[in-house]
Amino acid sequence: TPSAPSARRAPAPAAADGGVCRPGPLAVLGRDVTVPLATGGEIGYAALDYAASAPALQRVWDDVAAYAPYYGSVHRGAGYLSQLSTDLFESSRAAVRTFLDCREDDQLLFTRSTTDSLNLLASALPAGCRVFVFETEHHASLLPWRGAQLTVLDAPRTPDGAVRALERALADRDPHGPALVCVTGASNVTGELWPVRELAAAAHAHGARIVLDAAQLAPHHPVSLRETGADWVALSGHKLYAPFGSGVLAGRADWLRAAEPYLAGGGASRTVARRPEGGGTGGLDVEWHTTEARHEAGSPNVIGAYAIASACRALTEAGFPGLVAREQRLVAEVRAGLADIPQVRVLSLFGDDAPRVGVLSFTVDGWNSSHVAAALSAEYGIGVRDGLFCAHPLVRTLLGAGRGEAAECGAPEPAPGGSAPLNAVRVSFGAG
Ligand code: PLP
Repeated sequence: TPSAPSARRAPAPAAADGGVCRPGPLAVLGRDVTVPLATGGEIGYAALDYAASAPALQRVWDDVAAYAPYYGSVHRGAGYLSQLSTDLFESSRAAVRTFLDCREDDQLLFTRSTTDSLNLLASALPAGCRVFVFETEHHASLLPWRGAQLTVLDAPRTPDGAVRALERALADRDPHGPALVCVTGASNVTGELWPVRELAAAAHAHGARIVLDAAQLAPHHPVSLRETGADWVALSGHKLYAPFGSGVLAGRADWLRAAEPYLAGGGASRTVARRPEGGGTGGLDVEWHTTEARHEAGSPNVIGAYAIASACRALTEAGFPGLVAREQRLVAEVRAGLADIPQVRVLSLFGDDAPRVGVLSFTVDGWNSSHVAAALSAEYGIGVRDGLFCAHPLVRTLLGAGRGEAAECGAPEPAPGGSAPLNAVRVSFGAG
């Protein structure tokens, strides 16, 4: 069995004795990994970095292992295993469609990740499209819109404020041109939930469309395209307990059908022929598919797609109401524990009582966050993340650090002695 460097597997993790370290209702891999402590000895690893990458569900791992011997090329071969793999790939698509409550005519594309999904959508924007984002977004939602006219909205301080700010910004634009709003469902920094339904209604009322970045929402809450009214949703398998290299973009087919293929190549093209007048080096006439295949050129990641579908089934079967209730108890427990430490300040945009998923970031007065994170690892075997979490503008706003250059994604910044913290510590957990 592969194991992390200097980590060994043991049956009884010492850290799994309470709170967020108690095993959740869904079995995950890595629960029995022990890690060395700086003070000597070993301790059960407490993975509290689900927001970066959640551990694989045992069920996903088992499903993938059971399928692996039958792996074959998808959409290409006549052989039995190719047929089986194609069926499995397409039935995975159907399962994820059900999970996301897609509308009848939505398309669901398998991608590499949320980042890939949003870049794909960015490549499919109609000419002249304006894009609206809040500065609070993850860089995956902030940065892909390079070809469009981008409006970055200030961080709102209430969910209602977000809706009003969006309405104002949309009302100011030419109402006839295409527009897209990109918004997160749950912040990867504060864990706070965003008013997706209200933002979707506001976007639509002003003739705009909206894409929901559900990378952090989908592992914690049901996501329904029908109910939210979002036009598209993007998510990552590795945050959804399925770390096999796949993501999803699901939603309206029209912009996707009208766009040039995201990748040009086999699978995306229906027919390719030499132009008769082209001569030896002449051009090609290509007819592209108008189905999902248009943007899924090349051999797809069938295992990744199957893993996401397996995770979707496992979460649905476990039941979101129970998972949410348990997670909310843990959030309260973590908040209470942090509140007992006077030097700790939990970061929040919408206020302390705002609903949030199991993601919390905080600073510790007088401490550089990267030192706090390193100490949690070295002394307690607790794996968290520190830095700016690929959301530099948001974290800077929350820390009161204003605008300016930030360190590379995830890189810790040194806090000059006694000055305001320049980065934060994040704990995140889920159903495993
Ligand atoms: N959106 C949010 C809210 C995220 O938290 C992340 C990753 O942390 C992403 C998008 C990007 O996800 P990925 O790295 O899987 O593309």
